[in-house]
Amino acid sequence: MAGRTRLPILDSPEPAPSITPGSGSLGTDGRRRRPYPADVRGRWVRARRVVYFALIALWAALPWISIGGHPAVYLDVDRRRFFLFGATFNAQDLWLLFFALTGLGFGLLFLTAVLGRAWCGWACPQTVFVEGVFRPLERLVNGARNTALERARRRPTSFDAMWRRVVTHALYFVAATFAAHVFLAYFVSLPALYAMLGTNPSAHPEAFAWMLGTTALFYVSFGVFREQFCVVVCPYGRLQSILIDDDALVVGYDDERGEPRGKAKAAGRGDCVDCNRCVVVCPTGIDIRDGLQLDCIACTACIDACDDVMDRLGRPRGLVRYDSLRGLRGDKRRIVRPRLVVYSVLLLLGVAATMLAARGRSPFEANALRLPGPPYTREAGKLRNGFELHLVNKSSKTATFTIAPAPSPDLEVIVPMAVVEIEPLGSRRLPFFVTLDEARFAGDRPVVVRVESNGVGKDVTTRFLGAPAGGAR
Ligand code: SF4
Ligand code: SF4
Repeated sequence: MAGRTRLPILDSPEPAPSITPGSGSLGTDGRRRRPYPADVRGRWVRARRVVYFALIALWAALPWISIGGHPAVYLDVDRRRFFLFGATFNAQDLWLLFFALTGLGFGLLFLTAVLGRAWCGWACPQTVFVEGVFRPLERLVNGARNTALERARRRPTSFDAMWRRVVTHALYFVAATFAAHVFLAYFVSLPALYAMLGTNPSAHPEAFAWMLGTTALFYVSFGVFREQFCVVVCPYGRLQSILIDDDALVVGYDDERGEPRGKAKAAGRGDCVDCNRCVVVCPTGIDIRDGLQLDCIACTACIDACDDVMDRLGRPRGLVRYDSLRGLRGDKRRIVRPRLVVYSVLLLLGVAATMLAARGRSPFEANALRLPGPPYTREAGKLRNGFELHLVNKSSKTATFTIAPAPSPDLEVIVPMAVVEIEPLGSRRLPFFVTLDEARFAGDRPVVVRVESNGVGKDVTTRFLGAPAGGAR
């Protein structure tokens, strides 16, 4: 390629980055080169737009959708209660997260082994917001790639260039602010968010600070940092070299068919006409013909770009395509392979463990705690222990609890409140007392209290403490 004149691969109407040769979004001097990808049309771009729209719409709608009287997703961290698609959890259920996250992690490994970086190109919030919202806004104000680059190159400090820059970033800020408010609704609920919007920020400083923080995060990540997040920060992206094997689906270039690249009419050339179209549409600024690269987020833009070129030339599509590395070499792709079996087993184990853990989850918590003070008292020939029963209603409905001591030949258990109603996710502490004739004391012994609610029963066990008659008080 040396000596060949090419369109500038990476450029931007933004100021500062030097236009130097290099790979991806980094120049040879180590400075960032901001991509300004060209527009591309095609089946994959259309499909991705539909998916992005659906994901953003779902994300914005979830706080509005009510299931069982609560938002479909409502993470009330302040009161440690969490509503997820009709299920209700509280702080005591956080251990379930371990199984859920483990299952999700194995699910992602499995997905990567089969579909490569499908998550990055189709569903990662970074890609969805950059390509679905922020890039279209940039395009709206600055125009298509060539127009924008020409303007930036010729008149970088002109009024025209400046107002476009200011308006672009103002729109980024508005989009980031909107996204931050929707995000906040997941944690404070919509009614609370409306109420906050109508009051002074000083009335809810924590929520306001979170909103400012997430706005700044979204603005920087989606508007400024963009592909650098995928290339430099994202741990999943950095792990691709070990997660992807020769049989995972990748976006790749068919070397055999494309090389040696050259002009369409030149003799002895492959199908690649070296038009550079696949490069200028790439949001991370790489050349897919250089092989599989860490920077490739499998967005498919280069597939559509090259298919369009092939259509115009009357050649078959698929010079750049979804395929495995083995398939691109002309061999047969293996679907079932050891790592897929291992990931499947781990994924199934993770899902099974999460389901079992969720099924075994009790609708309430009940624990007996000893009352503060001495462990026992002696009064009129009787030993006496004081406890309190800590009840937590973990369901999303008001529940009635009945408390009854297990039968005992000599222990007398007094429960002042044998029936109690507790509001959804509420808790109560109920005292109860146990007495025993000191003459019958023969050592510490268990005390069992049975708690029942909605057909579910739980035996709460604690220990009766004391000392023989004439012993320590
Ligand atoms: S778009 Fe296709 S033909 Fe053009 S340079 Fe890329 S691979 Fe070659
Ligand atoms: S190489 Fe192709 S698939 Fe990969 S990021 Fe660039 S345009 Fe997207």
